[in-house]
Amino acid sequence: LVVITDVNKNYGELHVLKNINATVNRGEVVVVIGPSGSGKSTLCRAINRLETIDNGTITIDGKELPKEGKALAQLRADVGMVFQAFNLFAHKTVLENVTLGPIKVRGMSKADAETKAMALLERVGVANQAKKMPSQLSGGQQQRVAIARALAMDPKLILLDEPTSALDPEMINEVLEVMVDLANEGMTMIVVTHEMGFARKAADRVIFMAEGDIVEETTPEKFFTNPQSSRAKDFLSKIL
Ligand code: ATP
Ligand code: MG
Repeated sequence: LVVITDVNKNYGELHVLKNINATVNRGEVVVVIGPSGSGKSTLCRAINRLETIDNGTITIDGKELPKEGKALAQLRADVGMVFQAFNLFAHKTVLENVTLGPIKVRGMSKADAETKAMALLERVGVANQAKKMPSQLSGGQQQRVAIARALAMDPKLILLDEPTSALDPEMINEVLEVMVDLANEGMTMIVVTHEMGFARKAADRVIFMAEGDIVEETTPEKFFTNPQSSRAKDFLSKIL
C-alpha cells in the first residue's frame, strides 16, 4: 500500500531522513520506535505530505503523493492522522469534529455524516460525549474522538504519532484498546509508539529508527527479546 523508496530529508545541515526504504502492506500494523529526534514524526508527516521530502519517492496505491490542490486534499482524506497533542477543532463539538471531513471533503449529507459519526463515536466509547466541546473531555476521550474523526473518512491507512504519550497513565489503556481493536479489524496502521504492550499485541512489524536511519526491521517478538544492533539494545535498556 505504501512504498517508500530512497527518501531523504534535510533541515538545513541536519540530515533527518537518510535514504529511507520501507513498505507497508494493506492490513499491516507497523510500529515505528526510536530515540527522540530520530526522524519518526518527520517520516509520518512525509507520508501525509505535511512535510516535503528532498528526494526519493513515496507512493500510496502505486501513485506518487500529489503536491497540491484537490489531489492533496484527497490524499489527506485517505491517510488519517492522529497526533500526540490533541488536535481536535476546539470551537466545534465532538460530533462536528467527526462530521466535518465527510461533509466537506467526501460530500456526504449532514444527516448521513451524523449517523456515521455517532456509530464511530459509539465504537470508540464516547458517543455520550457527542454534544460536548473537546475541552470538556479527558485527554483519553479526546484521543478516541481523534481516532473516530480519522475513521470517518474511511481512510486507506491511519498514521498515529505517539497517540498516548501526552496522556495520564490511567487513560493510556483506553486509547490503546481502541487501537488494538482497529488493528484486529484489519486497518492498515503506522504507529509511532513506545508502548511495548501494543507492539507485542498488535504489530506485524517493528521499525527501529536512529538518527534518520532504519536500523532494524523485524517482528516485535524478535525486536524486544533479541535486538541486533547496539543502538536498539541501548534504547531498549532505557525504556524497558
Ligand atoms: P520525538 O521522539 O522527540 O518525537 P522524532 O523521532 O519524531 O522525535 P522528528 O520530530 O522527526 O523526530 O525530528 C527529527 C529531527 O529533525 C530532530 O533533530 C528535530 O529537531 C528536527 N526537526 C524536526 N522538525 C524540524 C523543523 N521543522 N525544522 C528544523 N528541524 C526540525
Ligand atoms: Mg516525534
